[in-house]
Amino acid sequence: MDLHLTDKVAVVTGGNAGIGEAIARALAAEGARVVLVARDRSRLDAVAKTLPGALTVPVDLIEPDAADRVAEAVAAEFGGADILINNAGTGSEEKILTASDDRWQFYWDLHVMAAVRLARTIAPQMKSRGGGVILHNASICATQPLGYEPIYNTTKAALVMFSKCLANELIGDNIRVNAVNPGLVMTGDWIKTAKSLTEGTDQTWEQYLQKIADDNAPIGRFATPEEVADFFVFLCSSRAAYSVGSTYYVDGGWLKVTT
Ligand code: NDP
Repeated sequence: MDLHLTDKVAVVTGGNAGIGEAIARALAAEGARVVLVARDRSRLDAVAKTLPGALTVPVDLIEPDAADRVAEAVAAEFGGADILINNAGTGSEEKILTASDDRWQFYWDLHVMAAVRLARTIAPQMKSRGGGVILHNASICATQPLGYEPIYNTTKAALVMFSKCLANELIGDNIRVNAVNPGLVMTGDWIKTAKSLTEGTDQTWEQYLQKIADDNAPIGRFATPEEVADFFVFLCSSRAAYSVGSTYYVDGGWLKVTT
């Protein structure tokens, strides 16, 4: 199937690791020109080195001017963007009654305001190019919360609602906006946590993660980042032209209700 992505310019936040890296690689494999946005320059460079023509923009997305810097870099190199993947994010762990305002603000800025600000700076570029696609990587936790991360659950739920509102505002400009809610995806944080929790115990980190998969996902395993990335790539394609303002679960059956 031709996805019609050749020479499209795609901005991927969190493009130097995990799901974002897999999305960037999958888009590049379809002929897109990718822009990798994240903080860690050495990881950005390492990924970009393997993707010919990739642009890197090292910014911290919680900074209010980060979106301007991304848009300026994209305009200077490619004249504008056709695709924006808001993927950067991270898990949390806290209790509501003891978490400080600063902690709430950090996750609000990273999961919501970064997407708001990038919409303000990148959507006008898309408009002038005749349209585009904006995708938000939220989480199954936006709907089905995990007990240890209330701030993550809340800010990801806000991101999904933002995605819906933005879709309504932009479809008249031929910009399609959607959200994806992944379930368990085998990326660095999970492995790091599993290794630290099983160190010195008689359980391996692999066994620890397998138990999480068995306990939660009917499919009985984590997704690979590539499996999630392929779904994103399809939504970027004109093949998904009628997909607007929706939220799609890629969760191996973990969501316990129908939506
Ligand atoms: P990783 O930790 O592997 O990657 C996170 C990415 O976000 C990195 O590229 C990181 O780069 C970037 N990032 C984090 N903070 C910032 C910041 N302040 N400014 C710019 N970039 C930032 O995570 P995953 O790939 O697992 O997760 C990607 C997204 O998918 C997240 O939003 C996560 O919530 C969501 N998700 C993940 C699931 C999973 O099971 N893995 C399940 C459901 C959703 P750097 O550190 O260099 O800035």
